[in-house]
Amino acid sequence: MSNDAGLQALREAARLSPDNLPLRRHLAGQLLAMGYLADAEAEFRAALVLSPKNPDILAGLAEVFVRQSAFGAALAALEPLLETPGYPPRLGVLAARALMGEGDMGRAAYRYFEAISRDASLADADLAARLTPAPQRPAPAPQQAAPQQAAHQQAAPLYAAPQQAAADQGGTAEVERAGLTFADVAGMETVKEALRIKLLLPIQQPDLFAAFGKRAGGGVLLYGPPGAGKTHLARAAAGELGAAFVNVGLADILDMYVGSSERNLHATFDLARRNRPCVLFFDEVDALAARRSDMRQAHTRQLVNQFLAELDGVDQSANEGVLVLAATNAPWYVDAAFRRPGRLDQPVFVPPPDTSARAAILRILCRDKPLTEMDFDAVARATEHLVGADLKGVVDRAVEAKLQQSISAGRPIPLTTPDLLAAAKTVKPTAVREWMATARNYVMHANDSGAWDELMPWVKGKW
Ligand code: ADP
Repeated sequence: MSNDAGLQALREAARLSPDNLPLRRHLAGQLLAMGYLADAEAEFRAALVLSPKNPDILAGLAEVFVRQSAFGAALAALEPLLETPGYPPRLGVLAARALMGEGDMGRAAYRYFEAISRDASLADADLAARLTPAPQRPAPAPQQAAPQQAAHQQAAPLYAAPQQAAADQGGTAEVERAGLTFADVAGMETVKEALRIKLLLPIQQPDLFAAFGKRAGGGVLLYGPPGAGKTHLARAAAGELGAAFVNVGLADILDMYVGSSERNLHATFDLARRNRPCVLFFDEVDALAARRSDMRQAHTRQLVNQFLAELDGVDQSANEGVLVLAATNAPWYVDAAFRRPGRLDQPVFVPPPDTSARAAILRILCRDKPLTEMDFDAVARATEHLVGADLKGVVDRAVEAKLQQSISAGRPIPLTTPDLLAAAKTVKPTAVREWMATARNYVMHANDSGAWDELMPWVKGKW
């Protein structure tokens, strides 16, 4: 087996989906784990362009710097993270190494011991010894880690690379029971209706479907700008159906060993089959289902072929009761073979919310909070271009501020419309405008098969 071939495949996937943040992070983490520091740095930097200030990416970058002995750069990356109360202890250890490299032993010791007081598993005997002044150095306690173990801890990367799929289990996705239904999804009536007909009716009313010679099964490709609610919608579809929900991220499938990604994919489909009825949700699917014609590597093509084979099933009943929902921000990167009948044959656009949908989303997000009489329409009007994920950010910020006031006052102070309006001013919209610009290019210049007709009225709008 060749790690390099697997890495190549990941690089290839990143080249084909350049804006796919989880993929870039995964690749950067793998490069770091394998010691390709310069390449890891380049990947982390590229990921940071997609998501500036992202704490995981900054932490990864800081670790690359520490391992390259660029301690000042590491500290610059870590500083904003260390200012957040309750920052992850592993960042404290990383900062300790960087500070030690800079010769600032006092602050290094503070960071190190503060970090291991919160997470003892990060203890590093060698670092501790170098940070403890010689006269006070405690004699090694008998129960201290065995030398082998200590050496292992020292070698382990501090950056928490996305979890590797365990080859013996094959895939790391888990089964959830979704507590949401379509009532928790604001707006999106057309989208919900499309899902109802495609996914829910065949199972709820099989006779009616059989009468028209239709068979349940197959999947739907949900596409649209990031944060518009694709994951939320998929989870709600599972709840609406009373089905299990398996949420598959890239790190559950992609593995640097040749053949392992295919095995993980198969194991994930099997997990869904064992838990039917089940909604199997693939996020960022463009990385697993990229256009084979764009690929230079036979190895990457194998994963796409495996995905198609899993969707088809070994026989007619293999995927009965398994509903595949796949989401992507970049549907144009998905191989056209996925659109054949019985596969992800129905692309469904999940649009950014309009004013009334934004008001409805805000109403849902605030429904279990203490409130005064709210003017959600006013907030919706003030949040043009914000998507569901951004609105969640607005509500979270307003609630946090209110919580602090309530703690000082010693009683719950309800949320008001001005609180939401103030929070809205501090939230930067997710890149809907940029997404629409990209979509416009595809709709206008690469829409021979009419696949993107549904987008036409949207991209012609003003963004
Ligand atoms: P995507 O998968 O498209 O990137 P998500 O589904 O993760 O977006 O949306 C982020 C969050 O925004 C969700 O967890 C949910 O709280 C909120 N949200 C998005 N759309 C809606 C909606 N239509 N109704 C209620 N909440 C929503």
